[in-house]
Amino acid sequence: MSTKSNSQTKEERVTKFLKLQGQTNQSPYLIDVEKAEGIYIWDKAGKRYMDMIAGVAVNNIGHRHPKVIKAIQQQLDKHLHVMVYGEYIQDSQLALAENLASILPNSLSCSYIVNSGTEANEAAIKLAKRYTGRQEIISCKNSYHGSTHGSLSVTGNKEKQSSFKPLLPNVQFIEFNNIESLNIITEKSACVIIETIQGDAGLVKPTQEFISTLREKCTATGTLLIFDEVQVGMGRTGKMFAFEHYNVIPDILTLGKALGGGMPIGAFISSKKIMYSLTHNPMLGHITTFGGHPINCAAANACINVLKEENWIDKAEQKGQLLENILSQASEIKEIRRAGLFFAIEMESADKVAQVVNNCLDKGLIGFWFLSTPTAFRLSPPLSITEEEINMAGEIIFSCI
Ligand code: PLP
Repeated sequence: MSTKSNSQTKEERVTKFLKLQGQTNQSPYLIDVEKAEGIYIWDKAGKRYMDMIAGVAVNNIGHRHPKVIKAIQQQLDKHLHVMVYGEYIQDSQLALAENLASILPNSLSCSYIVNSGTEANEAAIKLAKRYTGRQEIISCKNSYHGSTHGSLSVTGNKEKQSSFKPLLPNVQFIEFNNIESLNIITEKSACVIIETIQGDAGLVKPTQEFISTLREKCTATGTLLIFDEVQVGMGRTGKMFAFEHYNVIPDILTLGKALGGGMPIGAFISSKKIMYSLTHNPMLGHITTFGGHPINCAAANACINVLKEENWIDKAEQKGQLLENILSQASEIKEIRRAGLFFAIEMESADKVAQVVNNCLDKGLIGFWFLSTPTAFRLSPPLSITEEEINMAGEIIFSCI
């Protein structure tokens, strides 16, 4: 259909989009976005989509939450960027650091706010190398930690890495949930970086034994344990942080995506003792011009407050179960893996996944792929989704399988 927007047809806008904007995917969704609110996105032709992926685990509190909008507006009236990270005291940064400390264990009281999830992981790895004085890094097969060189180096996906070599040296990969493989953690290891629950591997939860042994092994060898909760943090799995399911606390936590309430942000968080190693030998051990941008910090602070005030996190498990109950009646679904409101729906083939995702899109529901798991599709709706909306979504997906 040829809809007009700013005197341009959709076809004209698609042509410009493909010609003028850098692309990494040969068949993008091409939803021509007009506005978004709550769990919905509208295109310029007025078609409404249920956003069942929340911008890929970003809009946990829904699109344009009024408290986030208000916090942004208030900060707009005060100041935008005033100085590179870490020199001036800025209300919104300080409030965010305080708020993060209030929802985290005492050993994770010192946060450094950056621009994205991948930067948080880059900086966390640097921090671990600097603090321990060691060079070896351990990560997991089938992991995803970001797209910049350092994060790509610890991303356990050979296909994604191969064209960009050389990457970081001294990176070793263990198998998620394989306790034997933890034996490669030694006094030479600076850190283990691991997603608390693997996301792009198609949602793989750790066993309690694996994650407890991992913690013990890191403690015994003086290796820092980094939990990457860029995707599974901020309530997505039914707890504010996924590590709370396992009673295991990392030395460094990385966050991103949903933290900003829709604004771009990342954070790496540790004890003050560990973090302060970035102040000397060399000083300015990690620097960033726009990290901790006041608008983004104000939005993130409001987002945490919304998550604290609403009982959406407490209800994520129940709502997730509701959707799982509906979908599990579809005989063509091979397996549903789920943590709270984060789903991997396993189908018989990648073609079947494409068919379901495309049918859903036609019917106004957005699902999405996984990077490393072609036979499954993802659902990660806003935590604010109502039971009625879950029933609607379940019916649509069911009818598309
Ligand atoms: N870590 C995990 C677990 C992620 O899922 C992602 C993004 O999907 C990242 C890191 C990278 O975050 P960003 O895209 O903000 O750089």
